[in-house]
Amino acid sequence: MSEPSTFLLEDPRSFAGGVTVRVLRAGWFRPDAGGFFGVVPRALWSRFTDTDDRGRLLCRLNLLLIDAGGKRIVVETGTGVRMTAKDRDIKGIEGGDPVAAMRAVGEDPASVDYVIVSHLHYDHAGGMVDANGRPAFPNARYVVQRDDVEAARSDELRQQGIMEGEQVELVRAAGQMAEVSGEVELVPGVSVIRTGGHTRGSQAVLIGAERSGGRASDPTERAIFWGDLIPTRWQIPVRWTSAYDDYPIDAIEIRNELVTRAARERWWCYFTHDPGALPVRVEATDKGGFRAAE
Ligand SMILES: [Zn+2]
Repeated sequence: MSEPSTFLLEDPRSFAGGVTVRVLRAGWFRPDAGGFFGVVPRALWSRFTDTDDRGRLLCRLNLLLIDAGGKRIVVETGTGVRMTAKDRDIKGIEGGDPVAAMRAVGEDPASVDYVIVSHLHYDHAGGMVDANGRPAFPNARYVVQRDDVEAARSDELRQQGIMEGEQVELVRAAGQMAEVSGEVELVPGVSVIRTGGHTRGSQAVLIGAERSGGRASDPTERAIFWGDLIPTRWQIPVRWTSAYDDYPIDAIEIRNELVTRAARERWWCYFTHDPGALPVRVEATDKGGFRAAE
């Protein structure tokens, strides 16, 4: 059932500080359009994409493979292999296993030093562990914001069955968890920043940046990976939050702050669920909003 392009490693792109980024297409994912676009009317979003006969959108599970400072970093882990067949069918998952994806393109999961998980929803954190519950990346430290680990542990009804708390505990038992808070530079040119909005501890990745408050010598060589704060280029308009955002008011504020900066400083953007060519830039529209640059 897998299409030939289920697993695909895109050509590398270089950023300030000798950082190289490749997009690893780790599978397909078909979220319900109503959930994905939330309050945005179909009349507006249907300019960009359309649904299948089950009301779903064709999206990708995009991982990043980053080489920087002699270290190798994977961003996101896909769904992994522990979902039920029924759940995979409802969500239209093909592929999703980060280990299979890496091996299919000739890369070794054991070569990875850090795994950045943007947040603990199933399609980002499910692949933290393999079928046997062991860390899928045996030599990596897993970087997750502490606020998201706490959200996964909480007794809030909304979080239950959605956050991958079990994966976190399995990785912790193996001694490979690295909980962080706020902005942390992992290696020169690769930092995580807590954004919240989508989940309490959602994080984005700044690439080719010294720090989010600093300025690289050439801002055209910088990039951001948004996680689910902005899952595809279709959701660049800052008020277009999804129904999966736990804190939509916060999401709009931080999206506005970061998208404004991305447009002004010409950051390249990587989107975790975008099926199209990556990265893309954003630009201001004459109506005061933002869109993907052609
Ligand atoms: Zn997602």
